Amino acid sequence: MKAISYVRARNVGEAIEAFAAAGDDARYIAGGTNLYDLMKLGIEQPRHLIDIATLEGADTIDTSGDHLFFGAGALMADVAEDAVVKREYPILAESLWKAASQQLRNMATVGGNLLQRTRCPYFRNGANGIYPCNKRAPGSGCAAIGGLDRTQAVLGVSDACTAVSPGDWPVALTALDAAIELRGPAGMRSVPIAEFYLLPGKTPHLEFDIGQGEIITGISVPKSDAGRNSTYLKVRDRQSYAFALASAAVALKMDGGRVARALIALGGVGTRPWRAGAAERHLTGQTLDRAVALDAAKAAFADARAGKHNAFKVELGARTLADAIMNAGGKIQ
Ligand SMILES: Cc1cc2nc3c(=O)[nH]c(=O)nc-3n(C[C@H](O)[C@H](O)[C@H](O)COP(=O)(O)OP(=O)(O)OC[C@H]3O[C@@H](n4cnc5c(N)ncnc54)[C@H](O)[C@@H]3O)c2cc1C
Repeated sequence: MKAISYVRARNVGEAIEAFAAAGDDARYIAGGTNLYDLMKLGIEQPRHLIDIATLEGADTIDTSGDHLFFGAGALMADVAEDAVVKREYPILAESLWKAASQQLRNMATVGGNLLQRTRCPYFRNGANGIYPCNKRAPGSGCAAIGGLDRTQAVLGVSDACTAVSPGDWPVALTALDAAIELRGPAGMRSVPIAEFYLLPGKTPHLEFDIGQGEIITGISVPKSDAGRNSTYLKVRDRQSYAFALASAAVALKMDGGRVARALIALGGVGTRPWRAGAAERHLTGQTLDRAVALDAAKAAFADARAGKHNAFKVELGARTLADAIMNAGGKIQ
């Protein structure tokens, strides 16, 4: 049995100090729904846990200013049920309530959700050395490439890694151009979500723009005139309690039947939450119908690179996106 120290911090300053005192083997823990899982699998082996689940003010949900602000410690369930979020930004509420289960959403935080690790089976099941994984053990290789790759990514893949970015909430946040607020030993900073998630390239073990001891304090989302006409559509093997095979977060500003502005991101298909700029450009200015939606959706997958068993994701992803565009545009399927 390995000894693990545990402290509960009362505020962000205390948490950062505790992390600095503990050193390299420390981890922050919020809801624990991903970290404990990874500890049981032997992938994470912290010697020190700094509990940040109850930091002062960390559960703030503030929809009153020109930005929505979600404290990193706000529970997924509470943000999903917030009346303003549900009414004005269904894309956000839906991305949360379609994730995990109610029990998990009652434990898990919106900050922890951003940093959850991939569900790639070779990443999760190979800590005993059976499978190589460049994300888990840099330089060891990738068993998913040429292996059982049905759930792997088709966008943003590299020769070193094809693991899917697993979260739903980060996809909706990507569509809405959210920023991640961080505080660490060197002070505070704000990172656009598009830069927070790193492409795998040759270094798939580097996943997030977050430094040693930095803590996510909150998520800031600019208010958008496309928020009301928005949706998060998630397609999976089971209708609940499963990760996305393909998902689409779409927010549209409509001008009559015409799309004045489109904000689109994809999940389940990319190595990071995937901003679909080509689809946005294709849609903008068009009168919305099914053919236009499908053309835009196909444009989002023009650079897709499939493996042996996951080519279906290109078609599935495009159809999922086309359906989400039609839903967001009020043309219910
Ligand atoms: C069975 C199951 C099904 C699931 N299905 C889905 C799904 O369909 N969709 C989906 O999106 N998710 C799904 N999840 C994942 C779940 O949403 C995440 O486990 C959860 O959001 C993580 O939040 P947490 O607060 O528990 O994080 P923790 O487990 O406490 O932490 C996760 C990581 O983030 C770090 N961390 C946490 N908070 C901070 C912070 N404020 N600053 C810096 N670092 C921090 C921790 O050190 C750790 O590395 C599922 C999980 C399970 C177990």
